[in-house]
Amino acid sequence: MLSFDNTKIAFSDKSTKSLRKAYWMFWLVKNPFLVLLGSWLLTLANKLRLPLHWALRNTVFEHFCGGETLDECQSTIDALGKKNIKAVLDYAAEGAEKEKEFDEATRRIIATIELGHKNKNIGFAVFKFTGIARFALLEKVGSLDPLTASESLELERVKQRADLICQKALELNVQVMIDAEESWIQSAIDEITEELMERYNKERPVVFHTLQLYRTDKLYYLKKLTALARQKKFMPGYKLVRGAYMEKERKRASRMGYASPIHPDKTSTDAAFDDAVRFCIDHIDQLAVCIGSHNELSNSEAAFLMDLNELENDHPSVFFSQLMGMSDHISYNMADKGFNVSKYVPYGPLRLAMPYLIRRAQENTSVAGQTGRELFLIRQEIMRRKKESSSTNQN
Ligand SMILES: Cc1cc2nc3c(=O)[nH]c(=O)nc-3n(C[C@H](O)[C@H](O)[C@H](O)COP(=O)(O)OP(=O)(O)OC[C@H]3O[C@@H](n4cnc5c(N)ncnc54)[C@H](O)[C@@H]3O)c2cc1C
Repeated sequence: MLSFDNTKIAFSDKSTKSLRKAYWMFWLVKNPFLVLLGSWLLTLANKLRLPLHWALRNTVFEHFCGGETLDECQSTIDALGKKNIKAVLDYAAEGAEKEKEFDEATRRIIATIELGHKNKNIGFAVFKFTGIARFALLEKVGSLDPLTASESLELERVKQRADLICQKALELNVQVMIDAEESWIQSAIDEITEELMERYNKERPVVFHTLQLYRTDKLYYLKKLTALARQKKFMPGYKLVRGAYMEKERKRASRMGYASPIHPDKTSTDAAFDDAVRFCIDHIDQLAVCIGSHNELSNSEAAFLMDLNELENDHPSVFFSQLMGMSDHISYNMADKGFNVSKYVPYGPLRLAMPYLIRRAQENTSVAGQTGRELFLIRQEIMRRKKESSSTNQN
C-alpha cells in the first residue's frame, strides 16, 4: 500500500528552520482576504516597477521557485536528485509582448533541454505558449477570425520557435511538456501541439500535451486524439491536470454570456480526472502519461491501477509530477517507492514570475483542505523532530 503519511521521508531534506518558514507561509495564504489583498498589491507594485525583491525573494519566491537563473537552481536539482526526484526546469516568464522577449525565452527553454541532456537529475523540459507568443495573437487564432498578413507571419515565427524547441528535444533525447492555459487561447495551443506531436512523436513520445480535466470537453478530446494518433502512427504524450484558471474562466464566461467550459463542481472534475487516468493506464501501450496532481487520492488511485495492470512502479511511460513547494509528502514518498517522480522547479526573474506566484497563493487559498493538510504535516514533522531530539538528549 502506498502511504503519504511518512513525514520523515517527506521532509528529509528540509531544515527545521525552513519548515517553520513554510508553516507560516501556508498559514498566511490560507487567509483568502490576505491573498486577495496581497495579489492586488503585488500586481500594482509590479506594474509601478516598485522594488519587490526585499519582500518576496526570501519568502514565497524561495519556497515556490528554484532561483532567478539556471545556476541558482543547481542546489535544488541536486537535493531532489538525491531523493530520486527529477527537476523539471520551468522558465516562469509570462505575459511578455515583444518578439525579443519570445526569442530570449526560446533560448532559455533550449538551454534547459541541453542541461537535461547532460544532467540525469533533470526530467522533462517544459514551456508555455504565452512565453513564446503574444496572448492576443493566440486568442485571435482561437477565435477563427482571419489573420492579417503580419499576424500570419507572426504566427509562423511562433511555430518556428516551438519547432526549434521540439527539434532540440528530439535530438538530445529529452521529453518536453507544453503547459495548458486559458480556454480562449487553448484551441490555438491544441492545434499547434497536435502538429508537433505528429511530427516529433513518431518513434517515442517526445512532446507532451497538457489536458485540463476541469474542462467538460477534455476527456472526449483525450480519447479522440489517442485514436487519431493511432491512425496517424504517432505516440501521444499527455500531462493530465485538473486546471489552474477556474475562477478566471467562470468570470469571463458569465461576463461574456457563454456557457462555462468548466465542470459545474469539483466532484465532476474529479470524476473526469479519474476517468482520464484510467483511460491512459489502460492504453499505456499507445501513449505516455504524466499525472500532475497534488491530490492524494488521484495519485494513489493511479498507483493502484498500475499495480492492477501489472505495470512496474518505474514503468517508462508513467510519470508523476508535483510543483516545487507543494505536496512534498506525495513526491518524496512516491519516489521512495520507486515511481518516476518529478517536481516542477520554476525559475526566472522575480518580476516575470509574479503571475505564477500569485496563482500558487490563490490556489493554496481556494484549496483550503489541501493547505490544511500541508500545515498539519509540517507541524507533525516539527513535533517529531522535537521528540526525537529530546529523547536523544535524554539518552
Ligand atoms: C506538475 C503540475 C503541472 C501543472 N501544469 C498545469 C498546466 O499546464 N495548466 C494548468 O492549468 N494547470 C496546471 N497545473 C495546476 C493544476 O491544474 C491544478 O490547478 C492544481 O494541481 C490543483 O489540482 P490538484 O489535482 O493538484 O488538486 P485538487 O485539490 O484535488 O483539485 C483542485 C482543482 O480542482 C478543480 N476544482 C476545484 N473546485 C472546483 C469546482 N467547484 N468545480 C470544478 N472544478 C473544481 C480546479 O481545477 C482546482 O484547481 C499543474 C499542476 C502540477 C502539479
